[in-house]
Amino acid sequence: MSDFRNHLAQICDLNHAAAVLEWDQETYMPSGAAEARAHQIATLRRLAHELLASEKTATHLEKRPDDSFGDNEALYRITKRDFDRATRIPADLVADLAETAALARQAWRTARESDTFKVFAPHLDKILELNLRKAEAVGYDEHPYDALLDEYEPGMKTAEVATVFADLRNQLVPIVQTLTAEKAPDNSMLHRHFPHDAQWDFGLDVIRDFGYDFETGRQDLSAHPFTTTFSISDVRLTTRVDESFFNPAFFGTLHEAGHGMYEQGIDRALERTPLADGTSLGMHESQSRLWENLVGRSRGFWSHYYPKALHAFPDALGGVTEEDFYRAINRVENSLIRVEADEVTYNLHIMVRFELETELVEGKIRVADLPDAWNDRIEAYLGVRPTNDAEGVLQDIHWSLGAIGYFPTYTLGNLMSTQLFDQANSDIPDLAQQISSGNFTVLLDWLRTHVHGHGRKKTASEILTDTTGTGLSVESWIQYIRRKYEDIYGL
Ligand code: ZN
Repeated sequence: MSDFRNHLAQICDLNHAAAVLEWDQETYMPSGAAEARAHQIATLRRLAHELLASEKTATHLEKRPDDSFGDNEALYRITKRDFDRATRIPADLVADLAETAALARQAWRTARESDTFKVFAPHLDKILELNLRKAEAVGYDEHPYDALLDEYEPGMKTAEVATVFADLRNQLVPIVQTLTAEKAPDNSMLHRHFPHDAQWDFGLDVIRDFGYDFETGRQDLSAHPFTTTFSISDVRLTTRVDESFFNPAFFGTLHEAGHGMYEQGIDRALERTPLADGTSLGMHESQSRLWENLVGRSRGFWSHYYPKALHAFPDALGGVTEEDFYRAINRVENSLIRVEADEVTYNLHIMVRFELETELVEGKIRVADLPDAWNDRIEAYLGVRPTNDAEGVLQDIHWSLGAIGYFPTYTLGNLMSTQLFDQANSDIPDLAQQISSGNFTVLLDWLRTHVHGHGRKKTASEILTDTTGTGLSVESWIQYIRRKYEDIYGL
């Protein structure tokens, strides 16, 4: 390994070691260890940052082309991108953001529990101000939000998101109005008693069938489900189990396994380079949503798995038909909480957040105006109005973490998921039959070839264009929703 490759490998090692400590913190660490652990993680992350932002990296980037990168254009491009972001943002701004976020997180919890936005408002003001400074430091051509969005969705522009979202909203709002005017399917059976161990085993059996590799991964419990990567050969999932509700553990497990299979599928040759990662949060979410919704909430999937579910949960599901169960897990309703929203209304929750974030960044609204602006827009899009801020503007953790520009990636992922899945169905003519017989090998191989294997070598936009022949668009997702729900609702 060349000296420079070794330098990049050490940066990866430090970041992945920090990820192990963070994973442990959310799963097994005793609560008394929090302070010591915070120091350990901060030390490793700081060392990784110092190595990345070092003279050594700068020198090799300047010397290009030479042995450092050879013909590896992608490695050069990604290293340069990471180096530029790491060096443009001043160290005191990074520290200020971290400290502000630590305090904001506590304030957000208190504000949410006591339903008092004004406890969180000054912290959010500071977070907004620091994000605006960050945008100026990183630089942008058109819109300061571009610089923030770019951290999560490299190359994506605010104007493109706004155009795509406007198109989506115009088509989606009438669909939601039509569906929610119909009688909603009964979903009371999903709230019966589902024993912990049976839920755990059922979820694992399904993701083993999907192709999630337990030789290079495992699942543990945590309060908030997530996926984390220590190397291509060690990708961990977490889930949570609610014995009185079927959905969170089962669909959460499928979702996280979708993220996990992406990371497990990256070309091993990219190991210990900055290319060994998902290319964007949107592309990552396209993989989790594909397995969770396009596969896991499909009729074909349940024609294979419902008998197994009946066997796993005889008390809860005894007497419930496959059709009633399928309709229940696909019930559409106007709701207030994003994480509990169905796949149809979910994107409207995201649009509200994107619009409010860009208006905050543009100075069109102030933090103090947020609760009313939030409630007005939720009511306009979803026809329901939050009665307090806990079920309104205070429901998500993202802003308290200092993250502005993150939310759009959820909807971008949903749109990409159907675009990719349409292409997979066209390339694999009997894919639907394979899913109905619990065979996912060909689908996973297809995703490995077109998406996973590339790591960060291709951007999300390049993957979409190279695979489907078109860029990001809403048509595929809208058609999927129409087809599926006209059938379920008999329209
Ligand atoms: Zn996800």
